[in-house]
Amino acid sequence: MKVIMLGAPGAGKGTQAKLISEKYGIPHISTGDIFRANIKNNTELGKKAKEFMDQGLLVPDELTCDLVVDRISQPDAAKGFILDGFPRTIPQAEALTNALNKRNEAIDYAIDVEVPDEVIVNRMAGRRACVSCGATYHMTYAAPAKEGICDKCGCELILRDDDKPETVTKRLNVYHTQTQPLIEYYTKAGVLHEFDGTKDINEIFDSITELLGE
Ligand code: ADP
Ligand code: AMP
Repeated sequence: MKVIMLGAPGAGKGTQAKLISEKYGIPHISTGDIFRANIKNNTELGKKAKEFMDQGLLVPDELTCDLVVDRISQPDAAKGFILDGFPRTIPQAEALTNALNKRNEAIDYAIDVEVPDEVIVNRMAGRRACVSCGATYHMTYAAPAKEGICDKCGCELILRDDDKPETVTKRLNVYHTQTQPLIEYYTKAGVLHEFDGTKDINEIFDSITELLGE
């Protein structure tokens, strides 16, 4: 099963992608997580990506596409994968389609999580991410057992630099201009399915599993 998650930053893509990954046993591939791991390890890619991420801009396609095409060619992705945060531009979607075409494959489901911009700003202000394992929480809607501490690994939770309100507004503009055209791209491909992302996390997941099957 090959799935991509679409939706604005903060719509809940990562939250649902993790649940899908666990239920269906397919790897969760998040380009945002890959870039953040590179930043943490101070790699060349991390240094380049950080310049764009801190400004709320997209990392250029040339730094992103090959990385994902390589990742989905790994053995653990042979039976499927869930891509979260990729593609984010039409050239990225085309690179993905071409790479899969070469293997006589295609994306099975594009899951679009729809949330109005006003709700996103509030969500991002309350999002907390683990500095170590990348797990995400929300101070109100998905709180950790102990405030400021990751349930999974016990490390510190922080507000991501790019989740500060001024950067969120910019990221939403980038989403509307560069990423939203993908809705039409995947509608034309006949694989787009829309979900109301303002509902409760488990309710959304139930609707997604109705689509993907038990
Ligand atoms: P994305 O991966 O799309 O950027 P996340 O999955 O990280 O978004 O979700 C953004 C924030 O909103 C997180 O703090 C998350 O815990 C919270 N969240 C996700 N889905 C919901 C929901 N349905 N209702 C309320 N809060 C949610
Ligand atoms: P995310 O964790 O998905 O919200 O991504 C955080 C940031 O990483 C984005 O705001 C971008 O700067 C960068 N990023 C993640 N995925 C991509 C992508 N597919 N293309 C370009 N930039 C990306």
